[in-house]
Amino acid sequence: MKKIFLPVLLALALVGCKTQKKDVTEVDPMRFAKSITSSELSDYLYTFSSDEFEGRDTGMEGQKKAAQYLKDYYSSLNIQGGSEEDEPYYQTIDSSFFNGRFPSSENVISIIQGSELPEEYLVITSHYDHVGMKDGEIYNGADDDGSGTVAIMEIAEAFQKAVSEGYRPKRSIVFLHVTAEEKGLLGSKYYSENPIYPLENTVANLNIDMIGRIDEAHEENSNYVYLIGSDKLSTDLHEISEAANSKYVNLDLDYTYNDENDPNRFYYRSDHYNFAKFDIPIIFYFNGVHEDYHQPTDTPEKIEYDLLEKRAKLVFYTAWEVANREERPFVDKPTL
Ligand SMILES: [Zn+2]
Repeated sequence: MKKIFLPVLLALALVGCKTQKKDVTEVDPMRFAKSITSSELSDYLYTFSSDEFEGRDTGMEGQKKAAQYLKDYYSSLNIQGGSEEDEPYYQTIDSSFFNGRFPSSENVISIIQGSELPEEYLVITSHYDHVGMKDGEIYNGADDDGSGTVAIMEIAEAFQKAVSEGYRPKRSIVFLHVTAEEKGLLGSKYYSENPIYPLENTVANLNIDMIGRIDEAHEENSNYVYLIGSDKLSTDLHEISEAANSKYVNLDLDYTYNDENDPNRFYYRSDHYNFAKFDIPIIFYFNGVHEDYHQPTDTPEKIEYDLLEKRAKLVFYTAWEVANREERPFVDKPTL
């Protein structure tokens, strides 16, 4: 064969590869969102908030079991660990970071690498710790934050399903299950001070903390979720979220707690704040408080699984758009 043909063959081979690669912006994400189901959410949550995990108190045996459970799950889906430790699914936090108040603990982290912009990261968080046991009673934390935990598990599965069909997201997606939230947002604080992926390349954080229940204000119409923070730093992110909701999910997006003057100050009270304080746009998904909040009665049979599915899908569709759109959400209202 004459030399001249070699580059031609190479060029043809490259074109071949290119046409085989599917365009992620041309597929309807509904196809993958279908894998987010109330029955799987329920299966996972009955295990995750069972007595076996002893209320998942930071640094204790139950929390370690919960971490192992998450690690095994991601490993079974072939989603790779996100840290560079010997145990790649864990980001270990030494007890000294807690000033010795609790034993060492771990954030559980995994990642789906992006195709075109792998150095830009969307981080999806929920805390997997809870308050443990008191006076021999187990605080199961089904809603707080078992609901957010299993939602991320299902969201990760949906993205991985897309990958397996040739639709890898453009940006990388990090699934971060943080520990020690109940001790003062310490797992997310540790991550933000020791980021595995650069914060300046972290395009957004979607944080889920309690999305399986209905609060008193919505007993009449439970088709809702509270959104907090979506417009605080980035009008773009807020608009993406609104559009994803009206196109696919149609929940009533309740912004009551987004009010600067709301006395609850929820914007400062869950893990997203450790991203927001670095001007990373965030959305906090929340069902509001209820009588079982931080009680041993926060148990899995009280969860509204169809509603949990709908809310998890809203996070998925929003994440899909953030991960795949041309530009990262623009920060038009920086604070730093
Ligand atoms: Zn919580």
